[in-house]
Amino acid sequence: PDAHPDSQQVIQDNRDHTLFSWSVQQAANPIHMTGGKGSHFYDGDGGTWLDFSSQLINLNVGHQHPAVLDAIKAQVDTLCFAGPSFATDVRATLGKKLREVTGLGKSFFTLGGSEANENAMKMARLYTGRDKIITRYRSYHGATMGSMTASGDPRRWPVEPGVPGIVRAFDPYCYRCPFGQNVESCKRECVSHIEEIIQMEGPQNIAAIMVEGITGSNGLLVPPDDYYPKLRALCDKYGILIIDDEVMSGFGRTGKWLATQHYGIKPDIVTCAKGLTSGYMPLGAVVVSDAIAEYFETHFLAGGLTYSGHPVSLAAAVANLKVYEDENLFGRTREMGAYLALRLEAMKAKYACVGDVRYKGLFSVIELVKDKATREPLAPFNGTSPEMGKLAGHIKSRHVYAYSRFNFLWVCPPLIITKEELDAGLAVYEEALALVDQMIAAPVAADD
Ligand code: PMP
Repeated sequence: PDAHPDSQQVIQDNRDHTLFSWSVQQAANPIHMTGGKGSHFYDGDGGTWLDFSSQLINLNVGHQHPAVLDAIKAQVDTLCFAGPSFATDVRATLGKKLREVTGLGKSFFTLGGSEANENAMKMARLYTGRDKIITRYRSYHGATMGSMTASGDPRRWPVEPGVPGIVRAFDPYCYRCPFGQNVESCKRECVSHIEEIIQMEGPQNIAAIMVEGITGSNGLLVPPDDYYPKLRALCDKYGILIIDDEVMSGFGRTGKWLATQHYGIKPDIVTCAKGLTSGYMPLGAVVVSDAIAEYFETHFLAGGLTYSGHPVSLAAAVANLKVYEDENLFGRTREMGAYLALRLEAMKAKYACVGDVRYKGLFSVIELVKDKATREPLAPFNGTSPEMGKLAGHIKSRHVYAYSRFNFLWVCPPLIITKEELDAGLAVYEEALALVDQMIAAPVAADD
């Protein structure tokens, strides 16, 4: 691609007139994005980047997929806006499809993941008549007031005390088990302690537990195989709903429609966004069980925004889900995921700084440590370190667009990635890991 004639000015104008998310504004360092195709996108200097984060894990069909673009254009030409209380063709089509792929009942459309979680919590409270929601510490559920409060990780701190009624539990984080156990011999305290929480909070007060199908932005925590069956049984015992936040882990990322489908359980409510349209248009959904849908036949559903069910977003989703099937992208994800798993395990064996690797399909993370034996993280929780800075800086300098946070480095390319592209990105990751190994082996003296 050609360089943009005025790229530096565009960046400056962005900085002068807009605010960037999750950033001290001075520290924001945006790339001027000018286009993309498949697994790559382009910058204002005419540079090409390999997208190893899928634009924060949603760009499943890659940049500028013609089938999704065509559907958006066709919908724009037909009907560009319908208020939320109108019936449209695309609304029916997508609702039917979501029923089919989730095995649940009806869908309520939102503008994204945070709003989907807001509505899921609200609907759970209305349906059960109970107030409290259990969430887990290492979770992220969004940046609106309620979803931010519901999140467990430090991103919730700025809004605290936030919305009342959130109670938190620990996570199935087997590499650093909060109960000091190991996965072979533990008694799944990650589930049983939730029963204690339920007892202490009053089972009659708890509407739902909200979990990420597979935890994404807090280190990709893949639970033991029996975690979800045990959690389902526990929730059934007390009449507590499971809200399965599949915003990040859903829609093919792990090689199935929902991450929880790997574990054979059915949640009561699924929330989704990102992979629903591959990020092409803003859209989320709350998909509820038949029982919950039935409840709202005769009870008021208090919610919905001006743009809910926007036909252009729905058309993008319908086309995007069809691409998944037409191109067998989930089968391909499982296949490429198996190859990626081998590569990640080899990195763990080779590099001193790789403490653990976790993966499911093309949803994967490398957990970095200073010392394999002690498992001391390469950066503190909620912080960074020179080593993590070096790692991220090197990867960026090679034009691989990666997502890293604390001591985690993700590998989440678009699901259409080729083996050659995957190899190219992993080669850059390996260069960076080797640099970190050198730093660990020869720590720089404090006064150097
Ligand atoms: N839930 C999870 C698991 C997420 O990863 C995210 C976004 N990163 C959200 C909810 C919020 O979605 P959105 O940004 O579309 O509001």
